[in-house]
Amino acid sequence: MGSVIYLDNNATTPVAPEVLDAIEPWLWGGFGNPSSGYSLGLASAAAIDTARGQVAALAGCQSDEWIFTSGGTESINTAIRSALAIDRAKRHIVTSVVEHSATLRICEHLEGEGFEITRLPVSALGHIDLEQLAATIRPDTALVSLLWANNETGVVLPLEKIAALVQKTNAVLHIDAVQAFGKIPLRLEGLGVHFMSFSGHKLHAPKGVGGLYANRRVPFTPLLRGTQENARRGGTQNVAGIVGFGKAAELAASPFDSALRDRLESALLAKIPGTKVNGDRAHRLPNTTNLSFAGIDSGDALILLDERGICCSAGSSCATGSGKPSHVLKAMGLTDTQAKSSLRLSLSRFTTADEIDRASEILPAVIAKLRAASPVDSPVSFS
Ligand code: PLP
Repeated sequence: MGSVIYLDNNATTPVAPEVLDAIEPWLWGGFGNPSSGYSLGLASAAAIDTARGQVAALAGCQSDEWIFTSGGTESINTAIRSALAIDRAKRHIVTSVVEHSATLRICEHLEGEGFEITRLPVSALGHIDLEQLAATIRPDTALVSLLWANNETGVVLPLEKIAALVQKTNAVLHIDAVQAFGKIPLRLEGLGVHFMSFSGHKLHAPKGVGGLYANRRVPFTPLLRGTQENARRGGTQNVAGIVGFGKAAELAASPFDSALRDRLESALLAKIPGTKVNGDRAHRLPNTTNLSFAGIDSGDALILLDERGICCSAGSSCATGSGKPSHVLKAMGLTDTQAKSSLRLSLSRFTTADEIDRASEILPAVIAKLRAASPVDSPVSFS
């Protein structure tokens, strides 16, 4: 990748060298079907068991509560459908306006099936109001589905408080932990969450492997029927991907340091007038900063940054190219113009100080160039 400075790790991460080493044998000699009874198959099954132990250790749950899936989107769809199958008379779902598109889209679809969806608003800092959440849950609420850490802003919701609150009701709680997993500590045991969704490619495992925590006290209905994963997720397992996810979880056990993100953010705030941080800086993932630069269009910025070797994004990668302002930033009260002047910069454990220092030179130059090219009345301030 040459000298590319990759600051889009919330979109996806590069596979870690140790993960690649762990995967390789399972693509060559160790190709057995984990459901086969001979040694070659049993070795694959044992490798999956080891990986299940590794991811469960990072999640703080029992291994048998972890189901391997094809990714975060499948886990989210499975959790939501499974929760709704528990009591088919319950037709109400509570979620928020700042969810990832995987949750947004299935909720829209469920609305078409006759479910009633309450989408909680968020504050200017990106938080839901817990009293409002409590007041919204009704006897016919089947499910509360919320993000733990927002993929665009990195804002982290108070998981323990949400779990304690939902536990007092009869609703099932699903948490989308795709962005948080491996960046902030998690202990599912005793937390009171019923389902939690994960994805390998956000923490240096390959794309196409995910996980779903299903609390053993909650009835489970599979989305894909078959015999694998204890009949909870049919389909021959992606052995290599699963082994990689396990190794990646092991590597993610050490705390994620926010120092380089803070260094980048401070440098950009100091060097670029009219820069604003979006989201609650005190409750954020350690790798993410979302910044608005008054007077620029993020689509133009992304082109110039790409030419200068920086990969980052305007909002979520799923919305890139839509030209629409971020639904997350809009929900936090930004105008269309402000939302369209925002960039998400997300680091990984492999991001270096040298990359951050180079990005801290390139970004101000790009913003200055864009502002010079299209001066507006008040380019360097937000009203
Ligand atoms: N949830 C969040 C918060 C995400 O950021 C993503 C990926 O961008 C997903 C879910 C979907 O995960 P996957 O790409 O593994 O389907």
